[in-house]
Amino acid sequence: MIDKQKARERGRRWREANRGRDRELKRNYYHRNREKFLAKFRKEHFDSRMKLLDVLGEECSGCGFSDKRVLQVDHVNGLAGEKRLKKPSKLLLDVKNNPGKYQLLCANCNWLKYLDDKQQ
Ligand SMILES: [Zn+2]
Repeated sequence: MIDKQKARERGRRWREANRGRDRELKRNYYHRNREKFLAKFRKEHFDSRMKLLDVLGEECSGCGFSDKRVLQVDHVNGLAGEKRLKKPSKLLLDVKNNPGKYQLLCANCNWLKYLDDKQQ
């Protein structure tokens, strides 16, 4: 246990003393394993999206269409000056914390809502 702590401390000191080299090594590691990283990111993105759809009811609030490929997360009252959350994991947290703020719409219903809002 103590050896592990010592090793961790030694690593931390080395990284502090070799900032540029540390970054370079990490960048090289990323490029050598890029496909692995991308696959991991894609899987996390997909899993979060599936959870998001599950939480929001898995069908369009406008017409009931349930093909997951075309369902989109809609801000019920628009963005209202807020920044759009692009990362599904962050969006999922916001959806869970603010029930009623979001709904699922199919691409057609979302587009029609956009056009209706624009006319008013
Ligand atoms: Zn719809």
